[in-house]
Amino acid sequence: MIYDVAIIGGGPAGMMAAGKAAELGKEVILIEQNKKLGVKLLMTGKGRCNITHYEKDIKKLIEQYSQEGKFLYPAFNKLGVEKTMIFFHGRGLRTKVERGKRVFPKTDNALDVLRVLLKFLKDGHVVIKLRTKVEQLKKDKKAWAIKTDGPDINAKNIILCTGGKSHPRTGADGSGYKLAKRLGHTIIEPRPALCPLILKEEWIKDLEGASLKNVEISIFQNNKKKKSFFGEAIFTDDGMSGPIILDMSKYIGELMKQGPVRLKIDFKPALEYNILDKRIQRDFQQFHNNDFKNSLDKLLPQKMIPTMIELSNINPDKKANSITKEERNKLVHLLKELEVNVKGLAGFEEAIITSGGIALNEIDPKTMRSKVVPNLYFAGEIINIDGPTGGYNLQACWSTGNLSGEVEK
Ligand SMILES: Cc1cc2nc3c(=O)[nH]c(=O)nc-3n(C[C@H](O)[C@H](O)[C@H](O)COP(=O)(O)OP(=O)(O)OC[C@H]3O[C@@H](n4cnc5c(N)ncnc54)[C@H](O)[C@@H]3O)c2cc1C
Repeated sequence: MIYDVAIIGGGPAGMMAAGKAAELGKEVILIEQNKKLGVKLLMTGKGRCNITHYEKDIKKLIEQYSQEGKFLYPAFNKLGVEKTMIFFHGRGLRTKVERGKRVFPKTDNALDVLRVLLKFLKDGHVVIKLRTKVEQLKKDKKAWAIKTDGPDINAKNIILCTGGKSHPRTGADGSGYKLAKRLGHTIIEPRPALCPLILKEEWIKDLEGASLKNVEISIFQNNKKKKSFFGEAIFTDDGMSGPIILDMSKYIGELMKQGPVRLKIDFKPALEYNILDKRIQRDFQQFHNNDFKNSLDKLLPQKMIPTMIELSNINPDKKANSITKEERNKLVHLLKELEVNVKGLAGFEEAIITSGGIALNEIDPKTMRSKVVPNLYFAGEIINIDGPTGGYNLQACWSTGNLSGEVEK
């Protein structure tokens, strides 16, 4: 049996590509090394799956994928955000748009997204081959011989959708890069992106779990402010994570190649120094008989108070109304510019996505076809494209998967 198309990798990109090729009348096989399809998909959005980013303006959407984003124009023109939503709505998935234009299933359950894709595959009679690892790709004049840890599989075309290297326990072990490299493709060095940060300060571990809303974090190198990010973050046992940290991690990774990186956290970005000082004075008046340690509840998450008191060097048992102007000044500075030093990025184990991958100049963006090897296509995270948090990365999978599925017979 020679299939028209073999898709390697049963993640979001692979399932979309397989369903699309089958819808267009191809004989399709989907090969996945895990015992189930969509293992990583089920983890997305903390199990809620942020399917896409509700941005109708393609130009604005593309800008978020940095310089490489332009590559996505043809894929987004074919299946952009709105058509992706129509795809899911038409198959019974109801969605909701949350803060920051993040789109989730109404049920808050990634399994419902997977169910739509499984039905898409079933409707197209896609043959699903699980627990099968592809080890080598060989081509003769007639077809591909796909060497697996079981029997060979033959197909006229291959769509490689093996993902990146992040969260390797989901099956994203980077083996797709090796398969493509052996066929002559260039791989832009895969690097962890959307990744928690590890910080040098010992006291960070005491803050584990403290979550921050509406903070501004600025990145410094050689005492120069490089960029600032505003939004939510959370302290971990050895550093920080959360949306803004993940989004700044790729940039920090690049900066660290040139030297040390420092962050300044502004817990009250909406308040100027003098206004914050007045606000603290008001709090201290209100809690005038309280000890200093019991007068910060309105300013900071509970979990952070002991550490901030220690860093301020103010006696925790001092009465709030006897705190001096200098001491208040110190507190204001801690709240406006708490300094932490970056030790490194947490690595592939914890990264949400991999940046790098198959070089874009070796893929035709209008078809996703390899310019190096005939009858080979790519889709999803394996391609050198990555976006910020907020549904951008799955949207790239849906769009490139859909386009690659139009593979010629
Ligand atoms: C914790 C977490 C949360 C995330 N949340 C979101 C979110 O809410 N929104 C969003 O847009 N993005 C999110 N992402 C990113 C998103 O999950 C990925 O961009 C997406 O899964 C990539 O899809 P893919 O199909 O390219 O690769 P994958 O999903 O990694 O699938 C690739 C598949 O290929 C299989 N495979 C690999 N090599 C072989 C081989 N040699 N033989 C056979 N099979 C092979 C793997 O087992 C795997 O199942 C999240 C990622 C993580 C880790």
